[in-house]
Amino acid sequence: MAPRPQARHAAHAAHAPDDANEDRPHVVVIGGGFGGLTATQALAKAPVRVTLLDRTNHHTFQPLLYQIATAGLSPADIAQPIRAIVHKQHNVSVLLAEAVKIDLDAREVHLDDGAALRWDFLIVACGAETSYFGHDEWQEVAPGLKSIPDAVAIRTRVLVAFELAEREENAAMREELLSFVVIGGGPTGVEMAGALAELSKFVLDRDFRRIDPAATKVRLLEAGPRILPTFPDDLAASAVTQLHELGVEVRAGARVTSIEPGRVHLGGEALPASVVVWAAGVRAQPLTATLGVPVDKSGRVFIEPDLSVPGHPNAFVIGDAAHLDGPDGQPLPGVSPVAMQQARWAAKIIRKTLAGEERRPFHYVDKGSLATIGRSRAIAMVDRMHLSGLVAWLVWLLVHIFYLIGFKNRIVVMITWAWSYLTYGRGARLVVGEPTGHMRELLGMGPSQSIPAAPVGAGPTGAGSEPGHAMAHEANDGTSQTDGKRRVQA
Ligand SMILES: Cc1cc2nc3c(=O)[nH]c(=O)nc-3n(C[C@H](O)[C@H](O)[C@H](O)COP(=O)(O)OP(=O)(O)OC[C@H]3O[C@@H](n4cnc5c(N)ncnc54)[C@H](O)[C@@H]3O)c2cc1C
Repeated sequence: MAPRPQARHAAHAAHAPDDANEDRPHVVVIGGGFGGLTATQALAKAPVRVTLLDRTNHHTFQPLLYQIATAGLSPADIAQPIRAIVHKQHNVSVLLAEAVKIDLDAREVHLDDGAALRWDFLIVACGAETSYFGHDEWQEVAPGLKSIPDAVAIRTRVLVAFELAEREENAAMREELLSFVVIGGGPTGVEMAGALAELSKFVLDRDFRRIDPAATKVRLLEAGPRILPTFPDDLAASAVTQLHELGVEVRAGARVTSIEPGRVHLGGEALPASVVVWAAGVRAQPLTATLGVPVDKSGRVFIEPDLSVPGHPNAFVIGDAAHLDGPDGQPLPGVSPVAMQQARWAAKIIRKTLAGEERRPFHYVDKGSLATIGRSRAIAMVDRMHLSGLVAWLVWLLVHIFYLIGFKNRIVVMITWAWSYLTYGRGARLVVGEPTGHMRELLGMGPSQSIPAAPVGAGPTGAGSEPGHAMAHEANDGTSQTDGKRRVQA
């Protein structure tokens, strides 16, 4: 039965944009990440109408992407539809679209479908993308971790590597399949390396029959003299110790010279690697280049102390896309508190401008830094306190649950983590969308030298084989294969 006209009208009214907003100054916010979303919310009571546009329909809680990549959480646990987050804010319209060009003089943002948006105020919060420092050809072999598709792609590679290793008879090939390399010793690299080690040591070791996942080799490579350069020496040293406890090999001063399927090269040294994760660098989204104003070598826009674009007081760039020096003369770091504080400041300046009040410069309040290494392992710098181990991990846990968007996500993540903590279980170990016939190609590996056809328990490859030990099986031609070497039977 069709709804009665009156009821239909009432339902529509609850969601209709507020017509009274139409004559208000138009604020266009590019990006629904930490910066853009916070700016939009900070404009809730301002006399403006806001258009929030993002090329994805969801806000991603990037600090937990590594949990998706290592099967600890599912994508929906750390992402929320942007529309749902702001649905109660009547001065906001959300657009699913990609901004391809910004015209500061015409005050227009051009979208990928050819449409253009006029703005009175602009907040650019488009964030960063993975940077390969001029080696974009490494992207395919060494994916970065910047989005949910990136994280799911890494998860698939990791799980596929274990699956292929389970079927591999050649010991060298098996070792290669169970070798993971994380490039970049910042917090993301440390988190990834620790989580990969935990996944293989404590979670997967129960699930496989032929291989010993705990024998997986995880290497963390850092080109600089030590990992975690933004943390004090004692905390970085503690992180190294905690990573060693998990079996991660940490190598500082290790400059990657080339990457190919199955290998990471450090000058003359070649490290085996079925999965390589690139956590070594980011640069601003290419959109910043279309502004036509000076940018630094990472593409970040040099902004004024009030966060505006030089010469364009009503256009602001915030977060990972902006370059603003802190009191120490170094650019403010690409972390979410910087993006969120700048977002609130830009919103405040817009309100002040509309009220005819004076602008003041932005000052970042640094509340500390955290990096997790694994279950009960982390480091934290809170004010002047240096914490490591369990206490730091508990701080990390609380902060990350607190800042996750959405009550349901907080509850789900809390329960999932409690369950994983108690059982060492990780429920999100799904390989989706990869036909089994393509598994080797996915890792860029050549054809297998020997895939055992016999089921477990049906021969020398079966019940008698110890996990992680060399396996041998009879070949039809009177030879046997052990560790990939064909030997004539005596
Ligand atoms: C793996 C990882 C772990 C991290 N861990 C931490 C941590 O533990 N603590 C911490 O403080 N920070 C962490 N960070 C950094 C933090 O996530 C960023 O500093 C923060 O997200 C920056 O906010 P932003 O608003 O500038 O950009 P983002 O949050 O990246 O948002 C940018 C948004 O813009 C959209 N967008 C980009 N280009 C366009 C376009 N052309 N058109 C339309 N939309 C566009 C994107 O889809 C995205 O939604 C981590 C980052 C990563 C990648």
